[in-house]
Amino acid sequence: MFELQVERSSDRVAVVFENTQLTYRQLNQRANQLAYHLRNLGVGSEVLVGICLERSLEMIVGLLAILKAGGAYVPLDPTYPSERLAFVLQDTQTSVILTTASLLKSLPAHGAQVVCLDSGWEVLSQNSQENLVCEVTPDNLIYIIYTSGSTGHPKGVTIPHRGIYNQLQWRQTTFELTEADKVLQNISLSFDPSVWQIFWPLCFGAQLVLARPGGHQDPAYLVNLISEQQITVIALVPSMLRVLLEQKGIENCQTLRHITCGGEALPIKLIEHFFSKLNLDNVLHNCYGPTEASIDATFWKCQHGTNYLIAPIGRPIANTQIYILDEDLQPVGIGELGELHIGGAGLACGYFKRPDLTREKFIPNPFSKEPGAQLYKTGDLARYLDDGNIEYVGRLDSQVKIRSFRIELGEVEAVLAQHPAVQQSVVVAREDVIGDKYLVAYVVLDRNRAAITDEVRRFLKQRLPDYMMPSGFVILEALPMTPNGKLDRRALPEPAQIRQELEETFVAPRDEVELQLAKIWQKVLSVHPVGIRDNFFSLGGHSLVAVRVLAQVEKAFKKNLPVSTLLQNPTIEQLAVILRQSELMNSWSYLVPLQPRGSKPPLFLCQGIGIYQPLITYLDSEQPVYGLLSDDEQGKPVKLDRLEEVAFNYIKEIRTLQPEGPYLLGGHSFGGVIAFEMAQQLISQGQKVALLVLLDTFLPGTTKAIPMDKRFSLHLNHFLQIGPTYLVEYVMEKFSKTYGKFALKHKFFRIKTLEHLVRQAAYYRTVVKYAKHYVPQVYLDRIILFMASEKSVQVEPELGWTKLVAGELESHEIPGNHFGILKEPNVRLLAEKLQVSIDRGLTSSRQ
Ligand code: AMP
Repeated sequence: MFELQVERSSDRVAVVFENTQLTYRQLNQRANQLAYHLRNLGVGSEVLVGICLERSLEMIVGLLAILKAGGAYVPLDPTYPSERLAFVLQDTQTSVILTTASLLKSLPAHGAQVVCLDSGWEVLSQNSQENLVCEVTPDNLIYIIYTSGSTGHPKGVTIPHRGIYNQLQWRQTTFELTEADKVLQNISLSFDPSVWQIFWPLCFGAQLVLARPGGHQDPAYLVNLISEQQITVIALVPSMLRVLLEQKGIENCQTLRHITCGGEALPIKLIEHFFSKLNLDNVLHNCYGPTEASIDATFWKCQHGTNYLIAPIGRPIANTQIYILDEDLQPVGIGELGELHIGGAGLACGYFKRPDLTREKFIPNPFSKEPGAQLYKTGDLARYLDDGNIEYVGRLDSQVKIRSFRIELGEVEAVLAQHPAVQQSVVVAREDVIGDKYLVAYVVLDRNRAAITDEVRRFLKQRLPDYMMPSGFVILEALPMTPNGKLDRRALPEPAQIRQELEETFVAPRDEVELQLAKIWQKVLSVHPVGIRDNFFSLGGHSLVAVRVLAQVEKAFKKNLPVSTLLQNPTIEQLAVILRQSELMNSWSYLVPLQPRGSKPPLFLCQGIGIYQPLITYLDSEQPVYGLLSDDEQGKPVKLDRLEEVAFNYIKEIRTLQPEGPYLLGGHSFGGVIAFEMAQQLISQGQKVALLVLLDTFLPGTTKAIPMDKRFSLHLNHFLQIGPTYLVEYVMEKFSKTYGKFALKHKFFRIKTLEHLVRQAAYYRTVVKYAKHYVPQVYLDRIILFMASEKSVQVEPELGWTKLVAGELESHEIPGNHFGILKEPNVRLLAEKLQVSIDRGLTSSRQ
């Protein structure tokens, strides 16, 4: 279907991702190139291919290529814990995985052949761009999606092409996409609505617009994207629809002409709210269907002013039959409750490698004359309404939906039971505020200590995706039982108890910012009291609650923070730092946050941003790092004549962030000299300096250039060892002091480099000026000096510093040249040693 559409729309845009796009022809050609490669690796019909990619053009190319080669895809969500991915890989035994070099690291050990779509593309692009001969039949698998399983492991639902073909044809005949349509892709490949989001537009000539990775959780971003890109088709779960309707700018989303809402019951109130906010008729649809029936099985077009209490799920889609049956598989009367059974073209082949479960859930269809026809037992309780619409009433088992994520409570309980300290557990879904369901785990431990809760939580986190994590943990002496020995669910205490078991880690707010934040959290999360170290997610927060918290934060602090800020800084303590900082940042002229998160005192590094990036990635994640950039480095006119003034101004600024010591200071090259002067001034102001680190910094006036002949032989030696790449590297290095190698490949490299060179020249002029007038004083404390093993200038021992240090001079040699010590692989050793020095400095300054 896609290839036929390519012939009709070859030069039209097929897919858009941020500011990149591919036409139908380009997308087809790339997918073909990859598909040939996959064929060479043995991919054909019924061969499973893992796909571990974030939303990107490559993800779409990858999916099409797998199908073109004849294979079936298995989503491996990069955000899932590696134990869960390991289970899927083990279960499916996928022989090939599509991923990228960076995501490869997050995959657990496996025996599959890996195709990296970023680093490997040069090789892949040698393949033919022509279509392959397609060998699949409608009965071959198209994908396996894993969904929660009550026995402790997820189960793979195997879907053949037939079901998806039916789904797409039904969508097209019912809602008719045209070339003018733009369909938003915001759902992870692990959930089946992503399938229609991707293939419906691509098979019918519309445009596919990909939300950026993580963007699906950010309502402000989504509303912006819809109005900017003029999106016409979108899928939402009810909880997301609710928050989107509250977003600023939702009234600008008038281009929407089809919304599929599904995944769980859609309240009539929400539908009315939709009509009051967006006066769009015939747009919103309540779609119902389990993964086992190829996405949607029934739908209802939402209407104004009906008498329904909950929105009906409507009637079956094309080639689909719905039966509401009693326990003896007899149809119940109109209005009577029964289990919803689905028959027809959309049925899965069953559960992967689970014949018993397949037989239990996929039963022979007693109403069909077609040989082999089956019914899927959904476990959903439903009834027929008088007007022929179906109403979903609830579940017959302990499967729940939390923000439309399907969760078997039994799976969470089974994973809990694997922890050696857990004696008994029960997991329930609570809904204290309507529309805000969350999981609570009630646990009986063999050691009744609060500290163990964190350990159990970590244990679960390593095994379950975030959406399956209980928000509350309540430790009980014993589970409450009814007189006849069954669990008494109604006697389970309210999770207000969550607070009690966190008591040991409770830290009360310490200033006005933290106090205000605590009040907001308490109100939105309904937990009292909230400590500044409590984790937002552990208290029941999730991305949609985060939106509410941030709306309140905006009111209180007049600061509009993106959802990702709270997701990355999930405690009040961390969020308060960001808020204080965003206030402060407007007033800073030199200070730049390089890695602002973490509970340790910040490390201030002088003169540079980009050069320090690799180093920062290897430091402790709790270590905040800030850069200090002088005027000339920022391309501003230089106002200060002396180095002492620069250091003085830097200190003024760092003290707005950290008013009192112990301070951690450092700098590379001349940046080290500024850090040295800052340390001197701070000490004379009565402050403690816990760390002064100089990264290949020469004491001014003590260097001599290496004579030309020596320098020549140095380069010649390298050239003879490494060959022509050495020269290229050398030139690149000269250019890439601020930009990493990766940036050099960027198309803007030339422009940036020229601009950078001009800036560098200005910088060197000022450095020379500062160095000429600077008279360094004797330093009484300790200096840590990291020296490059390869020298390009003649230096005195310890780069000249011995004569100035009256305290202690600790020096280390790091392999590499002046800039090479800050780059891979040398930077790892540097970071390791630096971290030790930081920690030691902090400990001794506390004594
Ligand atoms: P999933 O396999 O994740 O799509 O989950 C399927 C289950 O979600 C169904 O069996 C229902 O319990 C529930 N569900 C899906 N759509 C709806 C809907 N529109 N209204 C009520 N429940 C729904």
